[in-house]
Amino acid sequence: MTALRLAIVGLGKVARDQHVPAIAATDGVTLAAIASRSASLPDLPHFTTLEELLRDGPPIDAVALCTPPQVRRAQAATALAAGKHVMLEKPPGASVSEIDPLIGLATRVGRTLFAAWHSRFAPAVEPARRWLAPRRISSVKISWKEDVRVWHPGQSWIWEPGGLGVFDPGINALSILTKILPQPLFVNAAELCFPANREAPIAAHLSLADGEGLPIAAEFDFRQSGPQRWDILVETDGGPLILSAGGARLVAGGEVVVDVAEAEYRDLYRRFVELATTGTSDVDLTPLRLVSDAFMLGRRKIVEAFED
Ligand code: NAP
Repeated sequence: MTALRLAIVGLGKVARDQHVPAIAATDGVTLAAIASRSASLPDLPHFTTLEELLRDGPPIDAVALCTPPQVRRAQAATALAAGKHVMLEKPPGASVSEIDPLIGLATRVGRTLFAAWHSRFAPAVEPARRWLAPRRISSVKISWKEDVRVWHPGQSWIWEPGGLGVFDPGINALSILTKILPQPLFVNAAELCFPANREAPIAAHLSLADGEGLPIAAEFDFRQSGPQRWDILVETDGGPLILSAGGARLVAGGEVVVDVAEAEYRDLYRRFVELATTGTSDVDLTPLRLVSDAFMLGRRKIVEAFED
């Protein structure tokens, strides 16, 4: 099989930190071009827009859309209409409803649409799901707290409508949760803390449940200084399960089950190659629906203004 010729659209933080090295390390995919308004990579064809790349660029089979969520739907529609497979960075869109037409379009043109929930590919996530499957779960606590100035420096889009604010990392926790728990979840209540000068929350407290009343509490906070936390604690009849470091480390029943450096994006690209080979799509909107419900149900609290 010839390698999938892929272009990255939006050469920002995640594209440089994760996509470029993962593509280089993955069989079956090769980086063929960049479309980004202000950034390029040495020795690679560069175009300022996706349209320009599709018109004047080298032949490509697929695009990885690493732009902010607010502009991704239009880019995905353009790429699919041009017959390209599309990987959507998370969250798959700035709204839930805008994804349905893309799913329909991907089906009509026989190309892959892949909503890439990278945290689900963290090495301890699947082992956590398997460990939990036969056990009775009594409660879940999520603590997802990071310093926005460290992880999202100067990313003004994150504070705009559709940028999700603290749900940008928080949705990663929800993507893991909805993979490891056996039942569908829903949001009971939420409190969203909006800085006085911003359009998106800097912190959020969520109360979720499943159909049997399992209590789930989630704390998302962008104002964390000191140790950064990306932890999920699940109490079960077999003892506690602690999934930490964003899904890289698993302690269950008092034993360290997994503790490895993350390789999420290589597995993500393996999956994309697999899907593109058959033109199959993989789009799960469950984490985005939970975030959307938190915005619908959430009580708003105005907090201190945030300056970058
Ligand atoms: P970022 O550093 O701001 O990069 C996004 C890039 O997209 C920018 O560098 C910019 O490149 C381009 N862009 C920005 N606004 C645009 C617009 N209005 N129209 C077209 N292009 C635009 O953001 P990021 O951290 O890489 O995040 C991008 C997406 O990946 C987000 O959805 C985020 O949730 C997800 N993600 C991020 C991380 C992470 O570690 N940061 C991890 C996993 C997933 P040009 O100016 O050159 O066009």
